[in-house]
Parts: sequence; structure tokens; C-alpha cells
Amino acid sequence: MLLPRIIKRYATPATASALALGLSSPLLYTASNQIATRIVGAAPLRSFQTTTPWYLHPSKPASMGSDASKVTGNFPKGKSESEWRAQLSPEQFRILREKGTEPGFSSELDSHYPKEGVYSCAGCHTPLYKASHKFKSGCGWPAFFDAIPGTIDRHVDRSWGMKRVEITCKACGGHLGHVFEGEGFNNPTDERHCVNGVSIRFDENAEQKL
Ligand SMILES: [Zn+2]
Repeated sequence: MLLPRIIKRYATPATASALALGLSSPLLYTASNQIATRIVGAAPLRSFQTTTPWYLHPSKPASMGSDASKVTGNFPKGKSESEWRAQLSPEQFRILREKGTEPGFSSELDSHYPKEGVYSCAGCHTPLYKASHKFKSGCGWPAFFDAIPGTIDRHVDRSWGMKRVEITCKACGGHLGHVFEGEGFNNPTDERHCVNGVSIRFDENAEQKL
């Protein structure tokens, strides 16, 4: 078995804790830059300057707590659960409507840096982020330092004894990811909106319509 050998060789207290929590493959979820680099064969993640421990990462596996909850409330572009299930793929439904998380380094939008365009909500198609808001965080998920004003809600999530700030689409309530502040990234807001690529879609022409 490859994975036990890797764990034996590279496991840290953090990954050992993850194993104790029952995560099947914590090393694939950016346990540390060093391990992630070794496991996925990615380039060194020098730009990932955050001091946030990996287990506080907004895109931790959905099996760890409140990410498995459902979106509730009334929204301008809200739909019934059956309507969302009919519209969305199973993975989109799991993430957008049940606050799930895609695996790190799995989204092609992570390494997508167009000069123009808009990233819209994959559920209701409301424009959320401009291409100019995107930056390279190295964390394995699409990252933005700001959003189009008035399009995103923030909710403090205190599950698992942690304080994290969830971000959702204001129009439909769809779960996007989490936002971290003050990590030291060299961008205008020093924020990192860590967004599931499954939760958004790119339209290169939409910016002209804003
Ligand atoms: Zn939406």
C-alpha cells in the first residue's frame, strides 16, 4: 500500500490528528506545503504564506462537521430542494446546497488566470467575482481578494471549536467556501476568498455587461 508508506514517512502531528478523526486521505488535502508537494507532484507552493493550520482551512473535507449541513432560508433566486437537484449535478448540489467541499487541487479554475471576465455562481448565475479579483494563493482552491459589491454574504461558523467565516451567494444562498483575513498576501485587501471551483463558472464576456 502506497498511502501507509507515505504516512509513515511524512506524517506530522497534524496528519496523525486527521487520521484519528477518520479522514481517509488527509494528505491529499494539503496537510502541509511539503507534503502536498510530495503527494501531488505539484510545484513548490512558495506563494502560500498563510499561517492558518491546514485543519482550519475553509475547504476541509466535508466529513468534518458543519460543512455537511444544508442551506436554509429564503433568497431572491432561491429554489426548492427538488428544483436544485434537477438543475445541478450531484457534485454541485453537494457543495452548493449541502456546504460540501471539493478536493484540493481538483478544480481547473484554480490555475485559471484570465485578463478579463467574470466568475458567476454556478447555481443562479449571478456574477460574483471579476477576473481581476483572482490571485495565486497556492492553497489548491480558486482564490480571490475581493468580490463584486453586494453579491456575497458572510457567516461566522463556530463549528468544531474553530471560528471561520463562510461565504455564500447572496442571491441563492449557495455555499462558495470561506474567507480568511490578514494572512499577509500581497493584495489590496489582505483577504483570501477560498472558493470551490464547483461553485462558480467562468464567463469571459460577462464583465462587459456589469
Ligand atoms: Zn447563486
